[in-house]
Amino acid sequence: MYRVLAVAGTRPELIKLEPVISAFERLRGVETVLMHSGQHMDMMMFEHFLEELGLVNLKHVAIKASSHHDEDPKVSVSDLERTVEDTEPDIVLAVGDTYTVAFSALISHHAGVPFGHVEAGLRSFDPTMPEEGNRIIADHLASICFAPTSISAANLAMETIPQNRIEVTGNTIVDACLKHQEKAEESRIVERLGLDNKSPLILLTVHRVENTDDPTRLGNIVETVARLKQYHFILPIHPRTRDRLRRYGLFNRLLELPNLTVSPPLGYADFLKLLSVSEMVVTDSGGVQEEATILGRRCLVLRETTERPETVISGSCRVVGIDKFGRLLRQLLPRTAWPLPGKYRGVLGDGRSGMRIAKAVIKRLRRGLKPRPPRYLDDGFASFRLLRLRGAGSWSRLQHRLQTNRISILQIYDRDGRPYWPRGVRVLQDGMSVLVLGCPSVIETLGSRT
Ligand code: UDP
Repeated sequence: MYRVLAVAGTRPELIKLEPVISAFERLRGVETVLMHSGQHMDMMMFEHFLEELGLVNLKHVAIKASSHHDEDPKVSVSDLERTVEDTEPDIVLAVGDTYTVAFSALISHHAGVPFGHVEAGLRSFDPTMPEEGNRIIADHLASICFAPTSISAANLAMETIPQNRIEVTGNTIVDACLKHQEKAEESRIVERLGLDNKSPLILLTVHRVENTDDPTRLGNIVETVARLKQYHFILPIHPRTRDRLRRYGLFNRLLELPNLTVSPPLGYADFLKLLSVSEMVVTDSGGVQEEATILGRRCLVLRETTERPETVISGSCRVVGIDKFGRLLRQLLPRTAWPLPGKYRGVLGDGRSGMRIAKAVIKRLRRGLKPRPPRYLDDGFASFRLLRLRGAGSWSRLQHRLQTNRISILQIYDRDGRPYWPRGVRVLQDGMSVLVLGCPSVIETLGSRT
């Protein structure tokens, strides 16, 4: 029996972990323990989401948010450490890009426990985003990176994360979104919030630090909504956003706007219902960009970059920043200006990612996932080398030759320098390159072409 410790601290993490946890429950031989890290959800919201996602019977431990982080709780490292110690898991799993994820990776690493990062390889390439740092920490310390798409896998490959640590699985948000669609259709949230005669309806969510912690940006959003009187906005408000609006004296102004309904955070099915009936979505949330893509909605992203390029490529999302969003909303709202994206074509996954991840975890645990020290005794240190292949050849022969020299193969690139996906090249072709890591003196004997 393997024990998996699944760690979640925020609402989207729970939503995205549920498909993996449910898949473990369907497969035999795995016990899952869920840990609530105490980051963003209060206990009521946590319990509510456990119930809504069908996880109430799951064994779980909860860490209380540390009191000195009242308004913006992070995580208690010592509590996380203790839970990992007490649970004695075979693997720790976390999803996404929060403090919870970065600290789970670090703590697992120190405890010598394998760590699996779900939703690995997303990159905004914006070093000022706290989430970007969390993603990088989690991916580099993970024993398995579950990349949702070949774009995220290529990001990992370009950071020299070895190919054998990457699985392309699709994003579990697709599983979650499809699973809850029926309940969403039955939801009466539109009537409950009195939105049935409000049209066109715009769903607005704002919670990223880059927007909430900058009074000018947050004020800009409020004033743009105030100016767009011809639309009705619905804002399920995130606790951090509410706190900052109050702190900057903007909350009362927001409540006075006749074209805006403010609601507390909503349950998942209710939120999906609002998404599917809104004419457009305006958001800085990652998960909401994905859900807009899956449900075929049009979405303006209140940021300068996105780590989810698939949502833009598929025609669902446009990254517009804060300053222009009012003008672009007016221009793009008519469906003649921006047609609905149409049926979801699987750019983020096929709805079976949870099972794919669960099976990959079990397969790798059977093979033994415990980190082992390398053997670089010839020189005592290692260096990289990009080997250019001369002529076609067998992959297994090359692999054997390098491995007997204790040289690790990190990546294979095609003739145009693109990382080779999916993994599992069988035949090597002239002009391909192989990135290797090993003792410099041993690599030297191979030459730069092989
Ligand atoms: N969500 C929800 N209720 C709400 C607002 C959002 O269930 O009132 C869900 C939404 O469907 C998505 C996730 O929460 O799956 C997004 O969370 P958030 O915007 O907090 O974080 P991010 O995706 O940016 O990490």
